[in-house]
Amino acid sequence: MTQTTTHEFQAETRRLLDIVIHSLYTERDIFVRELISNAADALEKFRHESLTAGEVFDAHLPLEISIDLDEEKHTMTITDTGIGMNRHELEANLGTIAHSGSSAFMEGLAEAAKKDVSLIGQFGVGFYAAFMAAGKVRVQSRSWDGSEGHEWVSDGAGSYTIAESAGLHRGTRIIMELKDDAHDYAKKWKVEGIVKQYSSFVPFPIKLAGDTINTVSALWTRSKGEITDQEYSDFYKFIGTAHDEPLYRLHFSADAPLAIKALLFVPKENFEIMGFGRVESGVNLYCQRILIDQHSESVLPEWLRFLKGVVDSEDMPLNISRQSLQDNALLAKIRKVITKRFLKFLDEQAQENPEAYLGFWKSFGIYLKEGLTSDYEFQKELGKLVRFESSRSEAGTPIALAAYVERMKEGQEAIYYINGSSRAAIEAGPYVESFTQKNIEILYTLEPIDDFVLSHLSEFDGKKLISADRADLDLSKSETVEEKEAASKKEGAQLEDGDKAVLISWLKATLGDKVAAVIESKRLVSSPAMIVNPDSYMTSSMERIMAASRREKGQEAAQSKKNLEINIASPLIQRLAALQKSDESFAAEVAAQIYDNAMIQAGLVVDPLTMVERNYRILGRAVGGS
Ligand code: ADP
Ligand code: MG
Repeated sequence: MTQTTTHEFQAETRRLLDIVIHSLYTERDIFVRELISNAADALEKFRHESLTAGEVFDAHLPLEISIDLDEEKHTMTITDTGIGMNRHELEANLGTIAHSGSSAFMEGLAEAAKKDVSLIGQFGVGFYAAFMAAGKVRVQSRSWDGSEGHEWVSDGAGSYTIAESAGLHRGTRIIMELKDDAHDYAKKWKVEGIVKQYSSFVPFPIKLAGDTINTVSALWTRSKGEITDQEYSDFYKFIGTAHDEPLYRLHFSADAPLAIKALLFVPKENFEIMGFGRVESGVNLYCQRILIDQHSESVLPEWLRFLKGVVDSEDMPLNISRQSLQDNALLAKIRKVITKRFLKFLDEQAQENPEAYLGFWKSFGIYLKEGLTSDYEFQKELGKLVRFESSRSEAGTPIALAAYVERMKEGQEAIYYINGSSRAAIEAGPYVESFTQKNIEILYTLEPIDDFVLSHLSEFDGKKLISADRADLDLSKSETVEEKEAASKKEGAQLEDGDKAVLISWLKATLGDKVAAVIESKRLVSSPAMIVNPDSYMTSSMERIMAASRREKGQEAAQSKKNLEINIASPLIQRLAALQKSDESFAAEVAAQIYDNAMIQAGLVVDPLTMVERNYRILGRAVGGS
């Protein structure tokens, strides 16, 4: 005796169906994922029941998903041996929107549909997505409790029917009568491509026309000890569509405060610096082995986009839309836990095998620097991971800030750094002179971005990070008694105080607006002069980058005012003081040249034409002209 009843869809459901049927066209493939995800979910639920309940109906059935295609009848059928649904459940689950039924969700969906149809693909539309491809959908289902089976039928237009159906096995079978323009979904190649893309890690066999097609299992859910290197490597290649072997791999799970399983890989190559353009985030977010966000931009910070792998958290709701992932509080927590864990892992790797870590740093250090300048949250961890060359390191072998701190002199309060285009350029320049003299290590920041990085980091292990081109740099505290004595002895050749004051005020007057101040240097050893920055947040290297970007935008590249420090003990400066009295106009040429030279040593821009012409005039005098 079959009794057929007809039911109206709930109002929200009708609206959703309307959107799905009429606009979800471009992202059609997602319906397969949604249905497989539901089937896998039903299998997971059944597995749980069969473990906890004493008796289950049709216990002998293998847990699997079958997809059957009929090219002649234009049908696609997805069958699972999961938990199934009884009559009441069919009505409740397939007639209303349970989880996603909030009006905010509907608004968002409707808005997205209006703006850009492809946007709605980002909303998990669940079971109703079947109507994207099917004109008529039949759902035959029988619950694990063994109660009578039923068939649910609808064309998505406003109502559905439910009738008893005899002879069903446990689980759910969804038969879709494909629309005329969706007949491809009855073709094996088409469906196989989609299923492989979305559901390869579904932990149940997926059979397509009788063949199991999902060969890769949910590797990350297995315990580490059982997984071979080869399996890890295959998995990496599969999910990362990579051909190389991973450089690092981190597989971990946590139970509290969040249930997370993560398997992350660092590739061997950095394709971004190889010129392939910005890479897409390579970590997929799973919830109970069901993919909910491929290439997730939310599960890790943007600067970890080079990682490949999987994050699986049972705590995430399976039906969450990709759009709402971005500001999901739970996901923010997951992101933090995983990021910290990964950075800790890198630090461990650096301790265990410093050489391999340097290899990583050379390829991927740029991302960590990006993290330091864009993300305050992980500064402490990132500070441990950065590497720079220094006056004590070998060329090409950068060191950790911790190694610097370990070697710091007694009394030394800060970590010092100076930017330059190369080791040689830095070592020939004025900024390192006093460091060499006082035997203080100084970091060399060879990349333009480095000063931003250190300025953002601002301190490490309680020690301030200070650029050596800062105007207020004071190294006297870290001088030993002998060094203090040696320094005071050197002050033999000096100008009278009066002459000094005259020279300094004349220099300021002749250089005019080019400098904020002219100051007697306490730290230059042999160079006659150098440029320093009165603004403690700006180094010359940062200035250079910002000026360049202003020029690029067609804005005036105004330079902030610099101080010129002069070395009174330098013979050139002393003779300049005399020259200023005898031939002021030539002295002014020399002063301008000294300023330009100091600017060049600071890596800053000077006007090359003016400079070269002036330089020839000075040379003319030097070879005996007038
Ligand atoms: P969601 O999966 O986010 O809950 P869906 O629209 O995909 O939303 O599915 C609605 C509900 O229908 C599910 O929560 C589940 O209870 C039920 N359901 C869907 N497909 C199946 C299935 N294959 N077996 C058992 N129950 C199912
Ligand atoms: Mg679903």
